[in-house]
Amino acid sequence: MDIKNGFIGTVGNTPLIRLNSFSEETGCEILGKAEFLNPGGSVKDRAALYIIEDAEQKGLLKPGGTVVEGTAGNTGIGLAHICNAKGYKCLIIIPDTQSQEKMDMLRTLGAEVRPVPAVPYKDPNNYVRLSGRIAFEMENAIWANQFDNLANRRAHYETTGKEIWEQTNGQVNAFTCATGTGGTLAGVAMYLKEKNPDVKTVLADPMGSALYSYIKTGDLKMEGNSITEGIGNSRVTANMEDVPIDDAIQIDDKEAVRVIYQLLKKDGLFLGGSSGINVGAAVALAKQMGPGHTIVTILCDSGSRYQSRLYNREWMASKELLPD
Ligand code: PMP
Repeated sequence: MDIKNGFIGTVGNTPLIRLNSFSEETGCEILGKAEFLNPGGSVKDRAALYIIEDAEQKGLLKPGGTVVEGTAGNTGIGLAHICNAKGYKCLIIIPDTQSQEKMDMLRTLGAEVRPVPAVPYKDPNNYVRLSGRIAFEMENAIWANQFDNLANRRAHYETTGKEIWEQTNGQVNAFTCATGTGGTLAGVAMYLKEKNPDVKTVLADPMGSALYSYIKTGDLKMEGNSITEGIGNSRVTANMEDVPIDDAIQIDDKEAVRVIYQLLKKDGLFLGGSSGINVGAAVALAKQMGPGHTIVTILCDSGSRYQSRLYNREWMASKELLPD
């Protein structure tokens, strides 16, 4: 018998998918880790599980306790599922710019959702800083603190990175993905570099994030903006510190949209915007490296979380991003 133990036993061990149309176009094997197939629907289920179990093991999270987090949505959804499965309460502070689908999903799961104005990290009312203060003031509560809690990148070091290595039989030449907290990129890059220092590790960054310039020049500089959600950052999180990253590629929204619509029309894959940045960077990397290489990236979540935006003609036209 092959039976998974509930929601928690179903997190991870996702398939690695050959992205046929882009592989054929580039002559490289472009492979996407199908994180949208996690039981909570995104790559963040892994970090949510590690953060909660780390707090349990440290004796910080006790029966009947509350998990508090500031999140763009997917981490919150993962946490809310796991809180239900383990009997905890969940309180989510979310910027009011995030998609309605993610807010509705959080409420459906029974999390308490507090939308707050989207203000920069340096503002004390930024959603992340606010969630930390609320958790500190509440009784029997923990702050998940995904940006600076190293249980996040440990999830990807011990699971995502190891799975990619094993699924490719160690034949991976490069790995690229975008970062929100940096947990995925950091954990996978650390694991793959330890196995083979020749694996090229590359940050994929949307416009409006400061990390591209940070990797290229050492300075945090932001320019432009992006309709993608959950990725890009203005600072180097604890999860991103001392991580072996070789290079960075910046992908604009026009290219990310072209990529997700090609994946939809030619490959039958229905994905969110960050997957467009990731696969766009994998394609750019394939062009840099030349044919014959195996390049792995992350398919973070499904397009169903962005039906009212990325897949809504009116909304896309209002952003001047309607694809051909
Ligand atoms: N894509 C999406 C859709 C996300 O929600 C997130 C997490 N915020 C990421 C990518 C980035 O993952 P990480 O936090 O591990 O950097």
